[in-house]
Amino acid sequence: MKTNSNQFSNDDITITYEPSVCINAGRCARELSDVFRTSVIPWIDLDGAPSQKIVEQVKKCPSGALKFRLNQKVA
Ligand code: SF4
Repeated sequence: MKTNSNQFSNDDITITYEPSVCINAGRCARELSDVFRTSVIPWIDLDGAPSQKIVEQVKKCPSGALKFRLNQKVA
């Protein structure tokens, strides 16, 4: 099966979004609309909030469509 995933990164974190898993509950867009935007592409803007706040919102995604990982800092 072909998956259609999206990936978004800033210096700190990488957010991945799996549309086939999303149940469109709209929680992300409702609770953190500066980052998770419904009518703009790219729809996730990691400049819209501090990374920690984005991670907290990703953890609340009820379907698991949104995931995060911390980027390795290269010293
Ligand atoms: S919170 Fe998760 S399930 Fe709900 S719309 Fe956002 S990505 Fe989809």
